[in-house]
This record gives sequence, C-alpha cells and structure tokens, in this order.
Amino acid sequence: MKTLIVETANPKILGELVTVSRLFCQTPDVVVLGDGELWGSYGKACRVADTLGANLGTGLADLIRTEGYELILLSSTAIGSGLAGPLAVSLGAPILTEVTAITADLTIERSLYGSKAVARYKVGSGPVVLTIKRKYFEAADLAGATPTVELPAGAQRIALLEEIEEERQGIPLEDAEVVVTGGRGLGTGDSFAVLKDMAGLLKGAVGASRGAVDEGWMPPGAQIGQTGKIVAPTVYFAVGVSGASQHLAGISNAKCVVAINKDNEANIFKRARFGIVGDYKNAVPALINALKESA
Ligand SMILES: Cc1cc2nc3c(=O)[nH]c(=O)nc-3n(C[C@H](O)[C@H](O)[C@H](O)COP(=O)(O)OP(=O)(O)OC[C@H]3O[C@@H](n4cnc5c(N)ncnc54)[C@H](O)[C@@H]3O)c2cc1C
Repeated sequence: MKTLIVETANPKILGELVTVSRLFCQTPDVVVLGDGELWGSYGKACRVADTLGANLGTGLADLIRTEGYELILLSSTAIGSGLAGPLAVSLGAPILTEVTAITADLTIERSLYGSKAVARYKVGSGPVVLTIKRKYFEAADLAGATPTVELPAGAQRIALLEEIEEERQGIPLEDAEVVVTGGRGLGTGDSFAVLKDMAGLLKGAVGASRGAVDEGWMPPGAQIGQTGKIVAPTVYFAVGVSGASQHLAGISNAKCVVAINKDNEANIFKRARFGIVGDYKNAVPALINALKESA
C-alpha cells in the first residue's frame, strides 16, 4: 500500500511512524515538516519549511493526489493533529485519530470514554488519514540520512512568535525507569519536595496527576495520562492519586505500579501490583529512610 509519513524530523516520533508504515510497505515516502536532518531511508523525501498545518497551502494535498498515496500517517502531537483534520477534508479522506493498535488489513483500535473502552474499526481502501498515538509503537532505528526535495508552503496564516521550553530538572519523565507521581491527595504544592527526594534516591523523575496540575502544584508538562505524557517505567509510584481512567491511560505499559492512598477503595488499587493503604505523610518518609539505610 502506498504510504506517506508526514512528520517533523524528530527521530523518536518518526521512528514510531516508520514502525507502523512497515506493516504496509517496505520503504515509505516522507514529507518532513520544518528543519532538521532527516534520519532513515525512504523512497521519496520532501520537506515543507513550516510546521503549522494552516500555513501549508495545497502543496501537500496536491502531492498526495498526484502520487496516489493510499495511507497517510501522522502522529497525535499538536503538529500532527493541527494538520491531519484539514488534510483529510481537502482529500475527501476518512480520518481516525489517536490510533493505539493497527494491523496490515487496516483494522484499527483506539480508546473511547476516557480510556475506559477500546473501539475497533475496519477502514476501506485509501486515501486514509491516521494519527498515531505516541508511545504505543516501538520507534524503529533510523539508519542513515536522506536528502529532501523542497515542497512549497502556502500563505502564512498563523505566525509562530516564540517557542518556550518548559524548565526541566533531571531525567525526562518519559525516559525514567522510576516515576514518582503525586496527586491531589498531597494537599499542598510543597509536599512535592518529599516526592522529589524519593525520586532523587531512586534516580527517577517526578510526575503529576491532572488534579495536582490543576492545583498549580506542578507544571502541565509533568501531567501523566490521556491528555498528558505516556510513561512506561519499571516502577511507577502513584501517591495520593485516585486512579481515574484518564490517568491510567498514561501508565498502561508501566511494569510495576505501587499505590499509596489512604482510601482502600481508590481505583488505583485495581491497577497496582503493590498497595499501601495509608497517609503518604507516613509512608513516603518511611520509604525514604529505608532507601537511605539500604544504600
Ligand atoms: C477529557 C479528560 C482528560 C483528562 N486527562 C487526564 C490526564 O491526562 N491525567 C490525569 O491525571 N487526569 C486526567 N483527567 C482528570 C481525571 O479524570 C481525574 O480528575 C484526575 O486524575 C484526578 O486527580 P487525582 O487523582 O490527583 O485527584 P483526586 O481524584 O482528588 O484523588 C486524590 C486521591 O488522594 C487520596 N488522598 C487524599 N489524602 C491522602 C493522603 N494524605 N495520603 C494518601 N492519599 C490521600 C484520596 O483518597 C484520593 O484517592 C482528565 C479528565 C478528563 C475529563
């Protein structure tokens, strides 16, 4: 099936899309959005200078029509999502977003109802536009670099004024083998200090539920879940987190979940391998002491 990947040069995201594309073809074609060396080998590689879908004009849709692509793969990032819908409309193509599983006969899965249900779809022949949810597919190794041919962008309808990176300390959440997450049950923003101590001892990173982010205790970039980051650490501590389905959507591949919650009926205990029913103010310092003793 003739497949086109449309993505920035980010090798991790691109790698995930290449993994998906290999179900359908040997070497996909690619349109890179924005700057950066294009890693990996592709049939045909083009580049549009802009990353904002609104500024791409008709060049991309024209290319898809001329080349007769049957499957167009984007990622469920802000950039991919900004482009996928309007692109599908201009192609008159069906679109499925936030795809979590896919087979070679285009049977597709994605989550519904705050990740409480999985829906399965069968899509007919193309063109079909899909956005692939991050971290659900192993990123392929992209060997070598491919030169690109410039594709013209359209009129600039949205101007990117500034990109501000969130301040970050220590290991990025998505790369950490141990994640210590705090929820609204922590009661105050200052209480995150004790989670940071624990994460430091375990060489891990600190995450947050939306409850804690809404309280302003942690920055939005620390949020884990359906509308936050997806993590797959070896050990995941959920401290004062109720375990709403939208939170659990971010930790489905975490190997060992440890819950600390004073409500023994909290939903998080259904996902946890180990659970401590109690006040985190007692449990976390006790864990820290034990870790220091065993160090
Ligand atoms: C469209 C949509 C998307 C969403 N996306 C996300 C998302 O990406 N990530 C996310 O996290 N949420 C998300 N949510 C919100 C989600 O539904 C929950 O509201 C949220 O996860 C609750 O956060 P919480 O568990 O920290 O808070 P709460 O539900 O208030 O739970 C706090 C927990 O702390 C426990 N507790 C209280 N005091 C203590 C103590 N001293 N010691 C130990 N435990 C204590 C309580 O028993 C309780 O279980 C989304 C919701 C919607 C509608």
